[in-house]
Amino acid sequence: MLRLRQLADPRNDSTMMDIPVYFKLEEIVCPHVYNTYGEAAWSFFDPRLIETLEKIRERINRPIMINNWKEGGQYSQRGFRCIKCELVQDAIRDGRLYVSPHMTGQGVDFDVQGMVAEEVRQWIIKNQNILPWPVRMEAGVSWVHMDVRGKDDKKVYLFAA
Ligand SMILES: [Zn+2]
Ligand SMILES: [Zn+2]
Repeated sequence: MLRLRQLADPRNDSTMMDIPVYFKLEEIVCPHVYNTYGEAAWSFFDPRLIETLEKIRERINRPIMINNWKEGGQYSQRGFRCIKCELVQDAIRDGRLYVSPHMTGQGVDFDVQGMVAEEVRQWIIKNQNILPWPVRMEAGVSWVHMDVRGKDDKKVYLFAA
């Protein structure tokens, strides 16, 4: 059972949306979005991603690190990326189309404490029955990229960038 607390949905006063307990907003958005939108930025995410992250965090039972910019760390683009983020700025400058799941609130990059990325991917593959939604992961990289642009007929889909 997911432990979620509820907050009024800024898009609609009469409804409530689930806010995760395990993750803080600053861990999954860049500073630009955090400083501009604050808690309203929760609504930028595909709820399937948040639900999946919470489930994995609960079951793997180890700290998960996405962004750490708020504590002075180097990571700020591993969750939601906005047009001011460097990776997106690079794409704009190069004239490249860029529709990353990181820009649509559908994907994150993360590490799990005490595990290398390949161990985490194998854990997710082995425990795919706990996943509430199909996921995609990038194969062979030293971080875990996971997004919910999966395929309905497959719980875990590995792709090479
Ligand atoms: Zn940004
Ligand atoms: Zn990624």
